[in-house]
Amino acid sequence: MRLLLVAYPGAGKGTQATKLAVHYGIAQLSSGELLRAEVARGTRIGRVAADYLEHGDLVPDELIFEMLSAPLLQAARNGGYVLDGFPRTLRQAEVAYSVAQEIKDIELQAVVYLRVGPEELRKRLQARAAREGRTDDDEITIAHRFKVFETQTEPLLGFYASRGILLDVNGEQPVGDVFGVITSAVDSLHI
Ligand code: ADP
Repeated sequence: MRLLLVAYPGAGKGTQATKLAVHYGIAQLSSGELLRAEVARGTRIGRVAADYLEHGDLVPDELIFEMLSAPLLQAARNGGYVLDGFPRTLRQAEVAYSVAQEIKDIELQAVVYLRVGPEELRKRLQARAAREGRTDDDEITIAHRFKVFETQTEPLLGFYASRGILLDVNGEQPVGDVFGVITSAVDSLHI
């Protein structure tokens, strides 16, 4: 099973990705979490990525590919993955897709778009800022991340829709209900 979750910041990608990974017994690969871990460990990737993360800008593609290639390959060989945060731009999706043409059983089978409106997103992000204190959850950076999503990430939806693998899910429901909708949609694909 190979899944991707796409959603605005604060929509609940991470929460659903964790639940899906446990449910299907597959690896969760969250590019944001992995980047924050690189920063915390002070690795070469982390030292370059830190500034981009801080400002809510996208980290350069080459670093993202370098960080994710091996874990993705390994997860695909071990039963699959649920990705959260990658691909995040059309270019990342196109590169990943062309690499996947050369390697058996690694390409995405379903993409879940978690749809949540701006009011609800702001509420959830404010709550997360109070709870976790992520440095990119202040108001100005959030506004910037929304803009980045709109311009850079939203075009992905058309790309996956045209390949017939996009599932559009209402993310403005309780966590368990969202999870139920995603799993029934995914199960009905008989992957
Ligand atoms: P959110 O979706 O709430 O913004 P993430 O944890 O997914 O949070 O991402 C946090 C930050 O990590 C992004 O603002 C960006 O700087 C960086 N990032 C994550 N994934 C990618 C990616 N695939 N390409 C470039 N930058 C990324």
